[in-house]
Amino acid sequence: MDEDQDLMPIVKTAGRPKKIYQTPTGTHDILPEDWVYYQKIFKVAEDVAGFYGFSRIETPMIENSELFEKGLGMSSDVVEKQMYAFKTKGGDYLALRPEGTSPAARSYIQQGMFNWSQPVKLWYCGPFFRYESPQAGRYRQFWQFGLEVFGEINPVVDAQMIQIFYNILKELKFKNLVVEVNSIGCPSCRAYYKKLLVNYLKTRETSLCGDCRRRLRENPLRVLDCKEEKCQPVKSQAPQMIDHLCEECNGHFKEVLEFLDELELPYRLNPYLVRGLDYYTKTVFEVFSESTKKEEGSEEVVITKSALLGGGRYDNLVKMIGGHDTPGCGAAMGIERIVELMKQSQIKPKSSVRQPEVFIAQLGSLGKRKGLKLFEEFAKLNIPVAESFGRDSLKSQLRIADKLEVRYTLILGQQEALAGTIIIREMKSGKQETVKLEKVVKDVASKLRK
Ligand code: AMP
Repeated sequence: MDEDQDLMPIVKTAGRPKKIYQTPTGTHDILPEDWVYYQKIFKVAEDVAGFYGFSRIETPMIENSELFEKGLGMSSDVVEKQMYAFKTKGGDYLALRPEGTSPAARSYIQQGMFNWSQPVKLWYCGPFFRYESPQAGRYRQFWQFGLEVFGEINPVVDAQMIQIFYNILKELKFKNLVVEVNSIGCPSCRAYYKKLLVNYLKTRETSLCGDCRRRLRENPLRVLDCKEEKCQPVKSQAPQMIDHLCEECNGHFKEVLEFLDELELPYRLNPYLVRGLDYYTKTVFEVFSESTKKEEGSEEVVITKSALLGGGRYDNLVKMIGGHDTPGCGAAMGIERIVELMKQSQIKPKSSVRQPEVFIAQLGSLGKRKGLKLFEEFAKLNIPVAESFGRDSLKSQLRIADKLEVRYTLILGQQEALAGTIIIREMKSGKQETVKLEKVVKDVASKLRK
């Protein structure tokens, strides 16, 4: 049985078994109470991105598989293990997008953005797909918000990119943010460093975990990324990329760090940060939220780190996928992780659903018809109004009006509907007055203004 299908409970209804369909493994519904978090994050991110001159781009959720194979690399975990790739009925090889930088770069080339004024600054937001082992904060369909800058080689972009995301997270009221940076050089200095690293790792191969022994042959830099306990002593003695950068990469990284100092951004160097995709060059970075917790009955302090976003420079990507030589820099943040952390930190955004101020209660078919029309008149004036047209009992409608904490309930009984009048009930005092139906919207609007 496919593991994605095995969580389908069978429920018996009236003797007949009935399947209850579940979300596929690693995917989730976003219910209204959660969507307010997403909306808040989108709003803040969009506002900040707009402030820095970024414009929105939307690319399809499917792309040619080859785009990712070329940009990310065949031996990257994303392409090798996590990509939802398939052959269509027409014989095309497509993939559900696992990340947003390659599609943005594809669009930069296809849409001739190299003819636009440079740099081109784009932002995107939407679902991405990776076939991962589901665990906390790791989904198979997840949302990302990303920024990309094409056509600017200056290291100031790298620093500003980090600053923009930092501002977004600060605006969302996050504390304890940790920025980690590293440089993985360019293809020429990295090739030399890779040789050094492989030579070193080969002498310690038996001390590496199974995965790293494979990585040693396919993608040795990824060994530096390994979280397995067993590999930590080997990693800690390994040569470091920043000690072997060529002059240009070294100068670039030095400038990035100087800009970060100038911006007073708290960062730390992490020589093990590699990010594992072929298209990255020079600066790479990740931003974490760090929390410390004392385990119960133990003196030991446990530090938990959750990666909220990651990115870096990709000066060769556009060329790798068939475009002109165009430098670039970008990053993406994971929305689910941010929502999770907002919840843990008790950061609750306000719902964007407007609180109704008026409730229309009705009795009888004529009352319902007139109530329906009245509702539209309030809508035209943009006055938030609520109703429960499906209910016929006045008592239950008043109970709902009470619960909604509206200021006024308008009661349209059969008698009022026939007489062309309506009762305005002020909910706080319980005072009621009868007015002409055609005047009620104006009357209530002026009462609300007071
Ligand atoms: P990456 O480029 O893979 O580092 O992804 C950037 C950010 O997206 C990460 O820091 C996470 O916050 C988020 N992210 C990546 N993969 C997943 C996933 N499978 N589920 C949820 N969030 C993810």
